[in-house]
Amino acid sequence: MNKLTLVEWDKKYIWHPFTQMKLWFEEEPTIFIEGKDCFLKDIDGRWYLDGVSSLWVNIHGHRRPEIDEALKAQIDKIAHSTLLGACNEPSIILAERLSTLLSEKLPWGEPLIKIFYSDNGSTAVEIAMKIAYQFWVNQEIKEKDTFVSLKNGYHGDTIGAVSVGGIELFHQIYKPLLSKSIQAPAPYCYRCEFDLNYPSCSMACLIEMEKILKQNYERVIAVIVEPVVQCAGGIIVWPEGYLKGLRELCNRYNILLIADEVATGFGRTGKMFASEHEKVTPDIICLSKGITNGYMPLAVTAVNEKIFNAFLGEIEERKTFYHGHSYTGNPLACTAALVNLEIFEKNATLERLTPKINLLKEKLYEISQLKHVGEVRQKGMIAGIELVKNRGTKEPFSWREQMGWKVVKSARKYGVWLRPLGDVIVVMPPLVISEENLERLLHLIKLCIIEVTS
Ligand SMILES: *Cc1c(COP(=O)(O)O)cnc(C)c1O
Repeated sequence: MNKLTLVEWDKKYIWHPFTQMKLWFEEEPTIFIEGKDCFLKDIDGRWYLDGVSSLWVNIHGHRRPEIDEALKAQIDKIAHSTLLGACNEPSIILAERLSTLLSEKLPWGEPLIKIFYSDNGSTAVEIAMKIAYQFWVNQEIKEKDTFVSLKNGYHGDTIGAVSVGGIELFHQIYKPLLSKSIQAPAPYCYRCEFDLNYPSCSMACLIEMEKILKQNYERVIAVIVEPVVQCAGGIIVWPEGYLKGLRELCNRYNILLIADEVATGFGRTGKMFASEHEKVTPDIICLSKGITNGYMPLAVTAVNEKIFNAFLGEIEERKTFYHGHSYTGNPLACTAALVNLEIFEKNATLERLTPKINLLKEKLYEISQLKHVGEVRQKGMIAGIELVKNRGTKEPFSWREQMGWKVVKSARKYGVWLRPLGDVIVVMPPLVISEENLERLLHLIKLCIIEVTS
């Protein structure tokens, strides 16, 4: 179809996510029609380097031949059948693989062996929250009614997930609709809210967390966090020790720890799961984004056997987990995920990251020296560059200036596709990006920051 009609119909019929549509109407939209490796092609034939992995989902590149072929083969068998009262082959095999992988990678506590499927990160979180609540109720512990979550946290956009969200701009307005959650401070050390009486920002946050748990442990269902990197909150990388400390506090007060690894899972931070960095095994883990290499919507909530067993009983005991989705365990999505996991092994994806992580670090250091860069943050292949008006005082730009957007728009001229988080420029390329392209990506980001801020 010709471009003019597509643009007209887009503006006439589509309501875009996270978008002020009034501004959208004034813009020239980009229509992607093709992808290959780490690149995207628009309808005018221009190619862009995909600097944010198509919103953090792509790991091994677009149009990966092994996944394409496996999906075509699965299509020739069946596209979808239900997990409600029945099984299908790809979902069973994938559950075995994931269960084994999670047990291998996170061996410091009860292994996460039971897999509950859904189709996006938000529902994976909803499921984790409902399971955690009912885990206690099924054991006759009924006074638990609140979660503890972190400032700047992001767990998705459904009402349960928003209840444990900590980003004012996205979440504040829905307050009257939300379930109970206590918000604890998170170690955003660049903008630490504590005075210097504490030994460190991380310690201060743990002390605050302990106060909250000590006062409320009888009511607290679980603590839910994005381990090690709070991504949507602005690529906030935690100092070493915070997650470990949090795990210890949860153990001390007998509270479940839910790790939302929807963004950090599948190699982004340099390890398969971010919790590995601190040798922490959560009680429940949520996975999605990278799981299918960005091919199909799929999510997983994995729990340990102790939690699973609390739901076993006679039908009249009412311990059943009454939850499920139409597309739970979709065979196409599970097939894409299975092949994606195979590529991790065959390709030694994680082992090959080290030089890229080092290169990213080196280039970020150069960027950190720019006049309007307040801080650069990195964990593995995730990075954030925080732009500020004044480096000395850390004074931000006025949000009206939309500096982050200006940098990103400028990058498009040079064939780089990005999406910022406020004034934080996010760098999250597919893990298979070549060193050459990674260097080019960072070089162009640097140029654009200079161009826009000076
Ligand atoms: C993206 C994200 C979600 C929500 O996932 P959706 O698939 O967009 O619903 C939840 N948690 C984290 C940490 C995320 O980054």
